[in-house]
Amino acid sequence: MLSVFVSADLTGKIICLDPGHGGTDPGAVNGDLLEKDINLDISFLLKDMLLVRNSQVVMTRTTTYESLGNSDRAYICNDAGADLLISIHTNSVEDPNYDGTYMYWFKKEDRALASVMQPIMYNELGDYEGQPVTYYGIPDFIDFGTDRFASGTLMRSDMPAVITEPVFMSNPTEAQWLSSAGSERRTQIAHAHYLGILSYYGIPLDPVCGDDTLNQESEECDGFDLGWNTCISLGFDDGTLSCTEDCTFDTTSCTTSGPECGNGICEGNGEDCFSCESDCACFGKDCSFGCCGDGVEQNMDSKKCNII
Ligand SMILES: [Zn+2]
Repeated sequence: MLSVFVSADLTGKIICLDPGHGGTDPGAVNGDLLEKDINLDISFLLKDMLLVRNSQVVMTRTTTYESLGNSDRAYICNDAGADLLISIHTNSVEDPNYDGTYMYWFKKEDRALASVMQPIMYNELGDYEGQPVTYYGIPDFIDFGTDRFASGTLMRSDMPAVITEPVFMSNPTEAQWLSSAGSERRTQIAHAHYLGILSYYGIPLDPVCGDDTLNQESEECDGFDLGWNTCISLGFDDGTLSCTEDCTFDTTSCTTSGPECGNGICEGNGEDCFSCESDCACFGKDCSFGCCGDGVEQNMDSKKCNII
């Protein structure tokens, strides 16, 4: 019953990740936060995700100390024979209210890549911990779309290339989320890139509830795939387990051999003797001097319960 999810992957693809800035060029600065280090950390997180999908990953720099020119970045990726170049940046402006997602392209093939990645990244980053980011005091999270930009990295690269600006580190809430290595927000930003890259190659995005396959942590079950669970394994005595549309267990057809409404015995434990109805529950009628279902009529309505 448990089906194994075999996904298409990035075997044979070489992805060149370019952490923006570096060395003597910190990029944007907000207090202790340096853009060059955020970009590098996100690149490492993204690299790990891509490796899971069997991609080869090349990085233009791997330390905070390296200074690279924009053309150098393109040449490193060209020399590696990379299929994609993703140059990762973090945006900044004077107005601390701004936040949102922006992407740059130059060549025609860059534009095709950007047009796939930008909307996916914007949607992904507009939520944080299950809430719209605006819930956290970010006034608005803006889809800045994509623009043509004559960067040496984009112009001199042989492959589809984009410069990503997923969020604004000048926004104080973003800055707080971005403040530590491997933070949830940095991981989310890496994941947004990852989803964009997979989508560009037409690889199904992460498993979802509704694909009849139990393949993500948040699912108890998915369609027919109950992960070997049964009513009995969940603590019931019998019955048929099924799965809701929300990928949680539906135990309404599971049964227990304990108290059973309608068997003529008042067993307590859910069967209430105090004014019972046909479902052996209370509806405000008083039969306190006898047990519902004991065959003795305590009042006009008591016999409705538990008499076969
Ligand atoms: Zn930058």
